[in-house]
Amino acid sequence: MKLVVVGTGYVGLVTGACLSETGNHVVCVDRDKAKVATLHKGKVPFYEPGLGELIERNSRAGRLSFTTRLSDGLGDADVVFIAVGTPPTDDGEADLSQVMAAAEELAAAPEPPPIVVVKSTVPIGTGRALQELFDRRTGGKVRVAGNPEFLREGAAVRDFNYPDRIVIGTPDIDVAETLKKLHAPFVRTLHPILVMSRESAEMTKYAANCLLASRVSFMNEMANLCQALGADVTEVRTGIGFDSRIGFRHLFPGVGYGGSCFPKDVQALAHLGRSLGVPVEMLDATHQINERQKRLMAERVIDYFGGSCKGRTVAIWGLTFKPQTDDVREAPALVIIRLLLDAGATVRAYDPVGMERVRGVFGSRIICSPSGMEALDGADAVVVVTEWNEFRTLDVPEMRARMKQVVVFDGRNLYDRDDMAREGVVHFSVGRADVNADQ
Ligand code: NAD
Repeated sequence: MKLVVVGTGYVGLVTGACLSETGNHVVCVDRDKAKVATLHKGKVPFYEPGLGELIERNSRAGRLSFTTRLSDGLGDADVVFIAVGTPPTDDGEADLSQVMAAAEELAAAPEPPPIVVVKSTVPIGTGRALQELFDRRTGGKVRVAGNPEFLREGAAVRDFNYPDRIVIGTPDIDVAETLKKLHAPFVRTLHPILVMSRESAEMTKYAANCLLASRVSFMNEMANLCQALGADVTEVRTGIGFDSRIGFRHLFPGVGYGGSCFPKDVQALAHLGRSLGVPVEMLDATHQINERQKRLMAERVIDYFGGSCKGRTVAIWGLTFKPQTDDVREAPALVIIRLLLDAGATVRAYDPVGMERVRGVFGSRIICSPSGMEALDGADAVVVVTEWNEFRTLDVPEMRARMKQVVVFDGRNLYDRDDMAREGVVHFSVGRADVNADQ
């Protein structure tokens, strides 16, 4: 098929690349000239494992191209995907301006596409509103469907190729058949393609993210209780995870969830509920617990230093909201760094791929270190914020040579408490007893 994907972010670029890999001709459009110029140079504008090879192979084969002009791919397109951003406004509502701008441009095109698929995460009712817009502007030439995306950054190519399920929201049998055909190569292992109403498809995406976020917040609350009550949250997690009704996924306590999806989607659904007078206590609690959890580790650091970090140097390991991505949107590290700076600390930060983006946020207010070990030079403590593999094993002798004292605030419970005790490390983690804290 001939496809156009509008938006070359984490979702759009992966969608375009994976659909070209299965033999479709895909034109990816982005209004960001710098992004498209980067793609023309054969580079990927963000870090996503496996994506570069896919783009290179399919560009070379002539199936994948990039442009800033929507009109370039539109003439004979069978399907256009909208995969632009839907960031939160100040009060948590989903900002639909990018989606509406893309839809308006499509509706105004001399040859609008027969099918427009909304891949962006959009509030319930958006698909129907877009259908009305296209009906008004094109006299019924365009049919709008929803196809929410469930990929995870850092595993996006794999997730797109092996989805647990594909959700298609449309009342139109022909549209459903076209989209099923397009997605058939990705469900050869018999994972389902679920066709439902546009509203249910939109709601499915929010419900999935909100449930996952609520598991994280629930576990963070359990961790804080464990800490106060003398239980070990790692043992508790194992104890409940083996229950087949619960399972182990998304039950790690830590420094709170971040990224461009969970925080904004929880808030957007809560906003939608409130606007309709539907109580959303669970969503509000999920969000509030997370906001508190993001502050907790920094507050413990400040407490440890007696209420002020003046004259203290704190190293931060890991800046991205999770490993295997360079995305720092809503990353807990940003909150932690801000609080430490406000408390007077000198912050030495390191991340394997997220340095540039964090430099853009803090500029010269933090010291960006070229390696994890160099970040420790002269530090009074290190806070482990993102569980990159390279942080999983501590070289305590080298840390001792570089730091004033080996004090580790382990925001991801990476280290064994017995090892820490044996090696004389002062160790604070989440929902577990402190180690050597009286040193
Ligand atoms: P992003 O911000 O990384 O990328 C969006 C891109 O769209 C940008 O490059 C922007 O320049 C471009 N754009 C905006 N308006 C445009 C227009 N009118 N014409 C052409 N280009 C335009 O966003 P993302 O992280 O890829 O997310 C996209 C959508 O997918 C969001 O709704 C998000 O909630 C959803 N989603 C994201 C993820 C994820 O992990 N990032 C996962 C599932 C769903």
